[in-house]
Amino acid sequence: MRIYFDNASTTPLHPDVLETMCSVLAEDYGNPSSIHQHGRKARSIIEQARKSVASIIQASISEIFFTSCATEANNMIIKNCVQDLGIKRIISTPTEHHCILHSLDYLSKKGRCEVIILDVDAFGLVNINQLETVLQASSVPTLVTIMHGNNEIGTMAPIRIIGGICRQYGALFHCDTVQTIGKYPINVQDDHIDFLSGSAHKFHGPKGAGFAFISNEHIISPYIHGGAQERNMRAGTENVAGIAGLAKALEISTANMETNYAKILALRNKFKTGLSTTLDDIKYNGNQDDNFMAHVLSVSFPPGPKAEMLVMNLDIAGISASSGSACTSGIEEDSHVLQAIGHRKDRKTIRFSFSAFNTEEEVIMTVEKLKSMTKYH
Ligand code: PLP
Repeated sequence: MRIYFDNASTTPLHPDVLETMCSVLAEDYGNPSSIHQHGRKARSIIEQARKSVASIIQASISEIFFTSCATEANNMIIKNCVQDLGIKRIISTPTEHHCILHSLDYLSKKGRCEVIILDVDAFGLVNINQLETVLQASSVPTLVTIMHGNNEIGTMAPIRIIGGICRQYGALFHCDTVQTIGKYPINVQDDHIDFLSGSAHKFHGPKGAGFAFISNEHIISPYIHGGAQERNMRAGTENVAGIAGLAKALEISTANMETNYAKILALRNKFKTGLSTTLDDIKYNGNQDDNFMAHVLSVSFPPGPKAEMLVMNLDIAGISASSGSACTSGIEEDSHVLQAIGHRKDRKTIRFSFSAFNTEEEVIMTVEKLKSMTKYH
């Protein structure tokens, strides 16, 4: 039996989502743009999904656009805000996902807008006072893009406060909610969110299905040109089964939010207690007391040859977890997120990320394995 502790990377499909998608793939193969009955049926599946996603985040149906993934949604929002809304300045953080940071690099290198990266503290928490100071200093049209929950270290940003500050200073607010939607309540009205992205495969839906929320107040042009799909906003024949799966998965996650949270938090706590009581010099990256996502536990192991081999040895032992480093030009380096929080280079970080499909036995087994893998330190 393999243990899957990499749920921040992607999640297994929920069986009910699989059933929904199989039925759509088998029966509802019409092209949603066709006006005959097969087409109309496929269209109604998409519109039902749109209605469901919109109601979960308190948006209007006309504000939801299905995409191939969150990377596409984020690119579309950020680049077309600059192109169409006269945005001259984007404020962000150093711990965003690469689909945000690389888009910002691109825009800044092309001279399309100024990019300001705020400071984060040692837990990855964005400096809100600095955000306010920067917004106060200039009234140039601004987009603020700050993620809700960090995929590597689990720290959560106070998005309602950030949204409120953006509103106060007339800046637009984009929030990458890929790691939190379906896990934490999100209300685009109360949170003052103008743009948001989500991705089905992070909440037990399929890969290749994402969405963008774009407030009706801000009209941007399409990112992909072609047919009139998604009300001219995103050309290309729709991934009907993927969209149906996305909506089904989001409905299930949202309906079970509290029980899933309690279960995942208990697994995380057990894992932490197990590690801290059996291994020496264990540290945790990101917020631990408050404002953290229960499903992400970023563990920093002490230096040593054993630590270097841990992710590989876990894999050999049947446990999938994620390394906190990336291979840049042949050299293993801490990820940009770990570097931003000042993680010590000689320590080794592994991210364990959980879902409601994990069990206590899996946690106990993994702690045991880690104990034997690190015991000669
Ligand atoms: N944003 C965050 C915070 C993520 O964790 C990810 C995926 O890891 C993405 C964006 C990109 O999502 P997708 O895989 O749908 O492109």
